[in-house]
Amino acid sequence: MKCSRCKALAQVSLPSHHSGFCPDCFQMFFTRQVERAIHKHKMFSKEDKVLVALSGGKDSLALFMELVKQGYDVTGLHIDLGIPVSSAAARAKVEEFCERVGGELRVVEMEKEGLPIPLVRERIRRPICSMCGKIKRYFFNKVALDEGYTALCTGHNLDDEVGRLFANTLRWDVSYLSDQGPVLPAGGGFASKCRPLFRLTEFETAAYCFFNGIDHHVAPCPYSKGASFTVRKELMNMLESKSPGSKRAFYENFLKQGRPAFAAVEQEEGPALEPCLRCGYPTSAEICGVCRVRDMLE
Ligand code: SF4
Ligand code: ZN
Repeated sequence: MKCSRCKALAQVSLPSHHSGFCPDCFQMFFTRQVERAIHKHKMFSKEDKVLVALSGGKDSLALFMELVKQGYDVTGLHIDLGIPVSSAAARAKVEEFCERVGGELRVVEMEKEGLPIPLVRERIRRPICSMCGKIKRYFFNKVALDEGYTALCTGHNLDDEVGRLFANTLRWDVSYLSDQGPVLPAGGGFASKCRPLFRLTEFETAAYCFFNGIDHHVAPCPYSKGASFTVRKELMNMLESKSPGSKRAFYENFLKQGRPAFAAVEQEEGPALEPCLRCGYPTSAEICGVCRVRDMLE
């Protein structure tokens, strides 16, 4: 197969774009997809202070490298969850990577914050991934707001977005369907959240990492077994292999037609959010969920 741009030997085939690319032209394709996502959805500009959540996985590292290459003012934020073996390995990958690309890095340690994930798992009778996700979102938001970042980016890709949309659609969850999208504006105690990789698939970010020599964290979290989002991703991948482009069409048409229709549906107002009396994080109770977990662990 020849590269669709320069006619050299293609090394990556993208059936959903009816294209194949050599490494250099694939880099241009990737850059263009990220640029389009940022500009079309007015995510941020070169004047913004951008915080990128770095788990150590391929998506977050690819996003960080691409934003550095494009000249944005970016800082990485890694949350060290304190999970034996896997957290130290993930943190080491992030630290090595940031040194290599010359990027600023902030690390927040759950051990020091009184919230190590193994202890949360042992003491709190709730699914650990939902607790862990809540704690990570809390610190992403806290660091962004406390330290004056104007945009908070995560490495969610098209497969993540489609998996979430599929789950929300299966439940016909109008409140989520009315505002799922690649950008959530700042307001009400929350930082602006952006997903600049939403036009790129997991395969495309993996190819980017490969061509750019990004050594990412691959060992699965020991608590991740049987996560339902993996099943949904597999189902969507089966559909994509039979009908290339269906994932992209599902998501893009949702943004164009589905989301505005759901946003127009009259919904009951959720409970009002007020700042947590202890830490200031928006909550519908007096004390937020993360402060309550911290109390329970003491
Ligand atoms: Fe946290 Fe592990 Fe669950 Fe991911 S898989 S949310 S790191 S507990
Ligand atoms: Zn709180």
